[in-house]
Amino acid sequence: MQLDDLYRRVIMDHYQRPRNRGRIENEALTVDLNNPTCGDRISLQMKLQNGKIEEAKFEGDGCSISMASASMMTETVKGLKVKQALQLVDLFSDMMQGSEVDLEQFPLEDIEALMGVAKFPARIKCATLAWKAMEKGLKNEYKEGL
Ligand code: ZN
Repeated sequence: MQLDDLYRRVIMDHYQRPRNRGRIENEALTVDLNNPTCGDRISLQMKLQNGKIEEAKFEGDGCSISMASASMMTETVKGLKVKQALQLVDLFSDMMQGSEVDLEQFPLEDIEALMGVAKFPARIKCATLAWKAMEKGLKNEYKEGL
C-alpha cells in the first residue's frame, strides 16, 4: 500500500503516539467493535453530557490505519456536540467512498492523511472502524432522538 509520504508520516505519528488512549475512569458509554477482515479491535469510551461528547478514549489493537484513525477520531469528537459528531461520521464515510468532501469541516487537519485509504478498498474498514464505533454508541444512546 503506497500512500503519500507526508500522509504516511501523519498516520505513523498517530499510530506510534496515539491520542486519547486509555480508559475513562468514571462511568462512560463503551462500545466494542471489530474488523475481522484485518483483525482490528477497538474498545471506545465516551463521556456524554448535555448532548456533547465531553471525553473520548480508546483501547484496542490492530493495523496502523485502524489505530491512527481511532486516535484522530477521538481527538476530533472531544468537545463536539453529538449531532456534529454524527455528521462527521457521514462525511468520513463519503471520503472513504472516494467522494470529494470539504475537508475544512473536520476540526482536525490530520484526518486528511486518511483520504488516500479510499484507493485501497481492503483497508477502508480499518479506517472507518473507530468512526462506526462512535456512531453505534451515540445512535444507541440517543435512539429516542437528540
Ligand atoms: Zn486494519
